[in-house]
Amino acid sequence: KKIIIVGGVAGGSTAAARLRRLDENANIIMFEKGEYISFANCGLPYYIGETIKDREKLLVQTVDSMSARYNLDIRTFSEVTQIDRTNKSIKVSNLQTNETYVETYDELILSPGARPILPPIPGIDEARALFTLRNIPDTDKIKAYIDEQKPKQAVVVGGGFIGLEMAENLHDRGIEVTLVEMSNQVMAPIDYEMAAIIHHHLVEKGVNLILNDGVNSFKNNGKKVITNNGREIETDMILLSIGVRPENELAVNAGLNVGDRGGIQVNESLQTNDPNIYAIGDAVEVKDYTNKQPTMIPLAWPANRQGRIVADNIYGEKVRYNGTLGTSIAKVFDYTVAATGNNEKTLNRLDIPYQVVHIHPVSHAGYYPGASPIALKLVFDQETGKIYGAQAVGTDGVDKRIDVIATAIKGGLTVLDLPDLELAYAPPYSSAKDPVNMAGYVAG
Ligand code: FAD
Repeated sequence: KKIIIVGGVAGGSTAAARLRRLDENANIIMFEKGEYISFANCGLPYYIGETIKDREKLLVQTVDSMSARYNLDIRTFSEVTQIDRTNKSIKVSNLQTNETYVETYDELILSPGARPILPPIPGIDEARALFTLRNIPDTDKIKAYIDEQKPKQAVVVGGGFIGLEMAENLHDRGIEVTLVEMSNQVMAPIDYEMAAIIHHHLVEKGVNLILNDGVNSFKNNGKKVITNNGREIETDMILLSIGVRPENELAVNAGLNVGDRGGIQVNESLQTNDPNIYAIGDAVEVKDYTNKQPTMIPLAWPANRQGRIVADNIYGEKVRYNGTLGTSIAKVFDYTVAATGNNEKTLNRLDIPYQVVHIHPVSHAGYYPGASPIALKLVFDQETGKIYGAQAVGTDGVDKRIDVIATAIKGGLTVLDLPDLELAYAPPYSSAKDPVNMAGYVAG
């Protein structure tokens, strides 16, 4: 078999490795338009903030190491520009030599990811120190600017994961940060009252937090940000982190179906409407695991899981992708914010009735030093006990509670089962009645 993969980072690299395990003889070619493959996107903010000091550590696999280990044909600086479905071939442009050529395939996997949204805000083209963050070259630019120009002030536009992680990391570099968020809260996967804890913490840490206000224009080559409400913020740099858009041009031009938000549509085997073309990762529309509606959830777990499943499906192992639960987590200064499944905002939008419990247990036995409160919220169906989702905010023990509930959801457990989960306990780690058990008792 000859299998071509477009995109060589999270989804693409996972698929390539799995394909090789399934078939020693397949001809596997992976095209990546950038210089690097299989790098740690998720670590980029922490390298800028200098928590991760060694740039090499971001490069999980190099072309040499990965080609040798998995016997792959990896071509970087190679952009796939066109798919010819009739002849089962692609057109490739070598970005270093400008040469173009055609390569045929038996199966094609698209994992082109999603790119930061750059809206046509007046003054955006003239703004000099305006950045977005997706890959290693973006990271190098931001870090070089901070190292060389020593900016004193930064404006981060957008309070999602990347915006918040960058707010913290810029702050760690001694930069005064203003965070501008158009909605009434940061961190969309959680509900307002949970986000309010984070708002308070951001302000406590010295972040100038502006909610309910968006960017209207940039002035003075990006030295001034004007907001819709008329605020004028002086700044030395701007980070735009207002979300991502699927890289769907190849798919659209080839007549592959995309959804309302541009995500490439695939079935449970991750096949597009062309049975020889598969698509995975940030570029695809997924089914929300909880409410079964189409959605876009650009996270690393789905990309990795889909990378493996797509290879299995190409080799006849019928493994289904069951949808994305959207389990997510972020560090925001001293706090951890995590969520899984649906929140109230989503359920309200879909008119799904639900019940909520809020509890504020401590992370481990109160008599053992270091215990701190967790705000834990469980959203469920009153009648059936079905768990719709959970959110947690705290300084310790947040991650495992959300992971336990995410596991319970995938295992089909209801709120009535939560008290019966026998979880590991000793005073430094939990209580004999773990917060997850308590949430179940309160909900039951
Ligand atoms: P990508 O990993 O983006 O790879 C796509 C690749 O395809 C790109 O390198 C692109 O250059 C290449 N490409 C596109 N078009 C073409 C073409 N036509 N020809 C050749 N190559 C092409 N997720 C989490 O779950 N947790 C986190 O903490 C987290 N942190 C993140 C932090 C940052 C700063 C960023 C940017 C992302 C973070 N993510 C995180 C998201 C996660 O990295 C993505 O969900 C994941 O990388 C998606 O994998 P992918 O294969 O779909 O796309």
